[in-house]
Amino acid sequence: MTAEARRQLPAIDRLLQESTVRAWLERHGRPTVVAALRQAVDEAREATVRTGTVPSLVAILERAAAHLAAATRPSLRPVINATGVIIHTNLGRAPLSAAAIAAMERVSRGYSTLEFDLATGERGSRHSHLERLLQAVTGAEAGIAVNNNAAAVLLALTALAPGREVIIARGQLVEIGGGFRIPDVLRQSGARLVEVGTTNRTYLSDYEAALTPETALILRVHASNFRIVGFTHSPSLADLAALAHRHGLPLLDDLGSGALLDTAAYGLAHEPMVQESLQAGADLVCFSGDKLLGGPQAGIIVGRRDLIERLKRHPLARAVRIDKVSLAGLEATLRHYQAGEAVQAIPVWRMIATPAEALRSRVEAWAAHLAAYGLRATVVPTQATVGGGSLPGETLPSWALALTPTDGAAQTLAARLRQADPPVVGRIERDRLLLDARTVLPEEEPLLLAAVRQALGAA
Ligand SMILES: *Cc1c(COP(=O)(O)O)cnc(C)c1O
Repeated sequence: MTAEARRQLPAIDRLLQESTVRAWLERHGRPTVVAALRQAVDEAREATVRTGTVPSLVAILERAAAHLAAATRPSLRPVINATGVIIHTNLGRAPLSAAAIAAMERVSRGYSTLEFDLATGERGSRHSHLERLLQAVTGAEAGIAVNNNAAAVLLALTALAPGREVIIARGQLVEIGGGFRIPDVLRQSGARLVEVGTTNRTYLSDYEAALTPETALILRVHASNFRIVGFTHSPSLADLAALAHRHGLPLLDDLGSGALLDTAAYGLAHEPMVQESLQAGADLVCFSGDKLLGGPQAGIIVGRRDLIERLKRHPLARAVRIDKVSLAGLEATLRHYQAGEAVQAIPVWRMIATPAEALRSRVEAWAAHLAAYGLRATVVPTQATVGGGSLPGETLPSWALALTPTDGAAQTLAARLRQADPPVVGRIERDRLLLDARTVLPEEEPLLLAAVRQALGAA
């Protein structure tokens, strides 16, 4: 590069005087803006060496603006879920109800009664806010919420079985995903794992034979994300509970998703319900807040009051406690069940309950909208899933917009839609990109269509 060309490259100090850059400084602060300017000037220097001409000031500022936008954009961003997987763990599981979002915003904005008793003016307990609601919606004597269900299981085992034996069927030693493996959790809690039965068949007598004076409890884990079919057997929860109780032991049931409503009412198999486990005699039942409950991330434990009190007093309870924002969202979500309006108010249940024909109409409207822009898309029947480790292999009939790229692969189109703002995530089937309506919230439709128009138009 000639000395002349080098002189023509603007200095950072000089760029900082530009009126556009002064506006950036006010919004983003000096270090971030200077870093973006440096990147742009470095690129301009390379371009000058390559081409022999210095890029214009306008071009350099445009590049700096792009670097600044990339550096200041949030990393955790909303996306439109068009995958057809309702409880999509990688996409943040359950979208929340309007009431839950409002409750979370209210409690974030200022101070709250988190641990404050208004009647006495003294310290209160964060566990008090959910107690009566959990009793009302599950029928349990008592309940608490913690950070997530993994923490709920760990807390229950740590508080009730340290140094002692926990009996579990071999077929239930599952890995849930995200590194949550039941044998590892048991080890972490300090309990000793006693496996009984075989992978496919376990009888009540297997449990009975494994009981010793060292036994602390019997654990049942819902095999959330897989199914063993064929020559199988496991004792009923009621029989397991009766056996545990005859020996003065508690039965802990980790339901994973844990529905409060019957999934069978919507053409799906029956996902085990929290109320059923309690009625069958489980002493403690754990489940997630953000799977089929449809609330924020949380783990809920309901059951016998004396056991719940032991969990509350254990030091680990403090380490895995729920935060005030999730607590507010969880309370509002549980109130929907109490009011009998869960299917209408909670997005996860609304998605499950929407008839396929209604989805077909929506997708037809999407295709008509695109046709008006001269863009071709077809309307195809699909199978959506519940996800979140519930109902493996079960599907809900659904409808999707199928996009067949004329140039390049469906992967390229999918990548383009992921670059949209907000990004759109679909799924690829047989070289077509499918955008499934079951998981797209109605208010997201204009943004989804804008993203598709742009992605196809750019093709
Ligand atoms: C999902 C699941 C968990 C973990 O729950 P998180 O809320 O994700 O921590 C534990 N046990 C079972 C059976 C599950 O399905």
